[in-house]
Amino acid sequence: MQQVSDPLQILHDVFGYGSFRPGQEEIVQTVMAGENLLAIMPTGAGKSICYQLPALARDGLTVVVSPLIALMRDQVAALRNNGVEAGALNSSIDEEERRRIASGVREGTLKLLYVSPERLAHGNTIEWLARSNVRLMAIDEAHCVSQWGHDFRPEYAAIGEARRRLDGVQTVAFTATADVATRDDIVERLFEAPPRLFVHGFDRPNLRLAFAAKDNTRKQLLAFLDKHKGESGIIYCSSRNATEKIASMLESEGFRALPYHAGMDQSERDRNQDVFLQEDGVVVVATVAFGMGIDKPDVRFVAHAAMPKSIEAYYQEIGRAGRDGLPADTLTLYGMEDMRLRRLQIEDSGMSDEQKRVERQRLNALVSLCEAPVCRRQTLLAYFAEESPPCGHCDLCQEGAISFDGTVEAQKILSGILRTGERFGAEHIVNVLVGETTDMVARCGHDRLKTFGVGADRAKGEWRSLIRQVVALGLASVDVAGYGGLSVTERGWAALKGAEPVRLRSDVLRLRLGRRRKGQ
Ligand code: ADP
Ligand code: ZN
Repeated sequence: MQQVSDPLQILHDVFGYGSFRPGQEEIVQTVMAGENLLAIMPTGAGKSICYQLPALARDGLTVVVSPLIALMRDQVAALRNNGVEAGALNSSIDEEERRRIASGVREGTLKLLYVSPERLAHGNTIEWLARSNVRLMAIDEAHCVSQWGHDFRPEYAAIGEARRRLDGVQTVAFTATADVATRDDIVERLFEAPPRLFVHGFDRPNLRLAFAAKDNTRKQLLAFLDKHKGESGIIYCSSRNATEKIASMLESEGFRALPYHAGMDQSERDRNQDVFLQEDGVVVVATVAFGMGIDKPDVRFVAHAAMPKSIEAYYQEIGRAGRDGLPADTLTLYGMEDMRLRRLQIEDSGMSDEQKRVERQRLNALVSLCEAPVCRRQTLLAYFAEESPPCGHCDLCQEGAISFDGTVEAQKILSGILRTGERFGAEHIVNVLVGETTDMVARCGHDRLKTFGVGADRAKGEWRSLIRQVVALGLASVDVAGYGGLSVTERGWAALKGAEPVRLRSDVLRLRLGRRRKGQ
């Protein structure tokens, strides 16, 4: 068979699509150019094409490592349906299938081989692959390699070994988890040098984003729902108890509201889920147990009655609204108590110090989004490393925030970061600004700095918020892979020189997110 290598033609002839989705073509080109890459794309963005297409356009075998047997089966069936020779090696296949795969690999007719990480971990499998013409290794759900990911799988360690045995074969990794700590960890564990990085498809322009500090949950939810009478939606709560209470409150206000949480009978849960899926205008009041694998296109709103667990979780949860592409509304209520609780959970969790550090940074990132001084979408996408202009329809774009000219505050923070050598985290900078002589401050002699005590006019909680805002604005950045040290960015330098005024929010300064201190 004549090798076709025009990607667009393969896209059309084999997969039956008229055009690439955003990001796909560039990734395909990069794969075909032989480069290693890590691509971060949300579920449904179309990752598979990114490695399947190059597999067909070039000689040799592409090995796809995937942890989900059901998913492998679907993909192989779909590929065969399109006339592509593909197979899957995992615990569920029979002897005949295994032989078919072996001969396809021997004769070079098999283009794509899906392998579970358990299989890959077998010395035999690696030896056999080393003797086969493996051209490309594609790693699906690459976050499974990282302990910081939400789905760490020890078997993924076999991938590193396999790559070494395959002489560092070209490797492309895919994940929907965009968390920076996880991302850095994936790079470190899978690659010997940083690969090309692609981030695509996180923008969901039809979702309206809004946040509000919790003041009266009942009133705030009712005001939000008032705009969505007769529509389907989800309200996320942080406890089982809260789902029951809010559901019955909504019932008494005339809504069709059903609770959903892991403590309910399976049959009752299934029933509520079915009602939500099949009928119009049902509000499910749920814990995060609800939503996995639910594909209802016309969910018109998602509200969080309490702060979500992380930006990742937030994104997943609001992502269940507006799958049909039509406008959908979201509201997230957050409060000081949520933040404090989350902080305590982290400190008391029994995690390693390093893991706690990562979790604290995740929490800070989420709080930065709650307190964002500019467009929510911009701030959210910046977290995923995607750039975008202000969206024009989030709460901040429409209503703005109560802000003040925070140029001087920003300069105090930035100069505090600089004078302490751009090595310290927010807590130390706060201590220097308010003039508190902690052990660390004394040990480093930072009580002799010019910035020591220049911020004594504000409470520590206010400075913490201002620092998060300065980071959210891109004036300073956090070393997430290391110890959370702050450094001044190019834009931060411009702000230090007073190039343009810095607007900061004053309405969020009341919220305090203090770290509980040991023994003090
Ligand atoms: P992911 O692995 O990122 O979750 P998939 O690769 O399964 O996503 O693709 C999601 C859906 O989008 C699939 O149904 C796929 O057929 C479809 N799809 C992917 N690329 C395109 C494209 N260029 N044009 C149209 N549909 C596409
Ligand atoms: Zn906006």
